[in-house]
Amino acid sequence: MKNRVLLRWFFPGITILMFVSFLIALLQDYIPPNIYELMSNVTGTLSFCIMLTLVIISIRPKAIERRLGLTEMYEVHAWMAMALPVTLLIHVGIRWSGLKNVTTLNLSNTSILGYIGLIALVVVMLTGIFVLSDTIIKQSKKLMQFKDNANRNMHLWLHRLAIVSVIAIHFHVYQVSYLTENIPYRFLTTFYTVTILGWYLLYKIRIAQLPKYKVTRINKPSPRIHEIELKPIDGQRMNYHAGQFGFFRFIDSQVSSEAHPFSFSSAPTYHQDSIIVMIQEDGDFTETLDQVTIGDKVTIEGPYGDFYPEEVRQSNQPMVLLSGGIGVTPNLSVLREEIA
Ligand SMILES: Cc1cc2nc3c(=O)[nH]c(=O)nc-3n(C[C@H](O)[C@H](O)[C@H](O)COP(=O)(O)OP(=O)(O)OC[C@H]3O[C@@H](n4cnc5c(N)ncnc54)[C@H](O)[C@@H]3O)c2cc1C
Repeated sequence: MKNRVLLRWFFPGITILMFVSFLIALLQDYIPPNIYELMSNVTGTLSFCIMLTLVIISIRPKAIERRLGLTEMYEVHAWMAMALPVTLLIHVGIRWSGLKNVTTLNLSNTSILGYIGLIALVVVMLTGIFVLSDTIIKQSKKLMQFKDNANRNMHLWLHRLAIVSVIAIHFHVYQVSYLTENIPYRFLTTFYTVTILGWYLLYKIRIAQLPKYKVTRINKPSPRIHEIELKPIDGQRMNYHAGQFGFFRFIDSQVSSEAHPFSFSSAPTYHQDSIIVMIQEDGDFTETLDQVTIGDKVTIEGPYGDFYPEEVRQSNQPMVLLSGGIGVTPNLSVLREEIA
């Protein structure tokens, strides 16, 4: 429990570390002319550090996900993203001149790249808050209705403008007059940006190269449940533990190729050469699953999660498994593994 609280601070901790290193670089050879200028510099830098950390979270680092959990990671992402409008508003709005330039579209005395980064970021924040996550809006029925009716796939693409925003802001730093001589600050900007975007790019390449599976069996145990069995096309089935989950992409199929998380209902020892998922129709994507046919191609990103941890797997103690509705899937996997 205590560990989990500490882990919740892992990503904010990365932001703080980057921010402190930037501050040291910033203040070593620059004395801000007044407190407003200092505030503007500090909040601009902090915004950039938050953005870079959010890119790291979107890579879903497995080592952290396994300990913190996917839902918690998404929540940390949402709460950190909530800090952005505040820090950005202070950065741009200091002495109101920045905001005046935005409203009058007078970009002559400010960096155009800063504005490109800002506009992209506003789109990213709106899609994140109102469509992709319910952390902030779950208290409002109307907003939840809006979220349910919105086109998630389109908003997901718009959300990826975050990368455009990071690149624009990286070059914005190079245009800021008081930073042109500050080599350590510029070095840190490039170092963090290249490292984190490079990691993001590697993650995307890995996703594109994931081994392919094909649908070999489809069963409907009840009208709204689809049980789908997948077998690897080349090579081995993915290694996983009972109770884990993966992100499934139907890459060659009538249905959308957006990644969706589903628990494995198969068990690694019991189902040696296949992976089975049981999916309940719940919305835009899952309600199209009737269009999936035998032979459709799928990739699986993962495994993620630690529902059935090592110490429980090794123990001979009796266990009680509780689940409701489609939440039975990881339990099925554990039960099948236990009898294998
Ligand atoms: C770790 C995990 C394991 C899961 N295991 C199963 C399972 O074994 N069987 C099963 O039927 N369902 C499972 N789900 C739920 C399943 O992922 C969602 O029902 C499905 O993604 C909904 O997509 P939709 O477009 O049909 O519904 P929508 O109506 O668009 O969304 C319904 C809800 O699912 C969330 N959601 C939608 N798309 C995604 C996405 N791409 N990634 C993450 N969340 C999304 C939305 O925030 C929304 O609240 C699991 C979810 C998680 C997080």
